[in-house]
Amino acid sequence: REASAYVRSLVRTVPDWPEPGVQFRDITPVFQNPRGLRTLVDVLVDRYFDAKLDAVVGLDARGFMIGPIVAYELNIGFVPVRKIGKLPWKTISESYDLEYGSATVEVHADACNAGDRVVLIDDLIATGGTMLAGMHLLERLGAKVIEAAALIDLPDLGGSARLRAAGLPVFSICEFA
Ligand code: 5GP
Repeated sequence: REASAYVRSLVRTVPDWPEPGVQFRDITPVFQNPRGLRTLVDVLVDRYFDAKLDAVVGLDARGFMIGPIVAYELNIGFVPVRKIGKLPWKTISESYDLEYGSATVEVHADACNAGDRVVLIDDLIATGGTMLAGMHLLERLGAKVIEAAALIDLPDLGGSARLRAAGLPVFSICEFA
């Protein structure tokens, strides 16, 4: 609880970015702060220490800042789910709807083994579309997705509820209403 309040206090809210009306939750101050970075990593490592995970899956791009540190501490591997066109080898892809248009994410076809236990990590859950696409990719590879973890949940946008309704447990360090 204390850790969560501390991390939350370091998140910077930027009004009207990247467009008018959006309140962007900026996590760079959490990473800049040594105690902030350690706290956020420790919360996630403690949470998954006994989960017998085989890999941490990070979502492009800010999931790449958090996921590898957690994977390193858990002594397991890291798998990137990338935006389309960035991965060099054989991939599988999932598309999902955005407010305007759509997005596609990919993972390498050999990124994990059937039966692997994985956790998905990103910085923030808004509509849940990104995490849901990540879950579908990993499930298509035969992995068992244990949980979706984020630094921040925006519960009013319904993403975490949507993920739970799809059978995916959700963990967030803090929330912004
Ligand atoms: P969703 O797919 O849940 O609607 O959106 C989550 C994705 O959008 C995440 O990958 C996240 O990085 C990005 N995102 C959307 N809004 C914000 C925000 O206010 N702050 C940050 N840091 N990321 C955001």
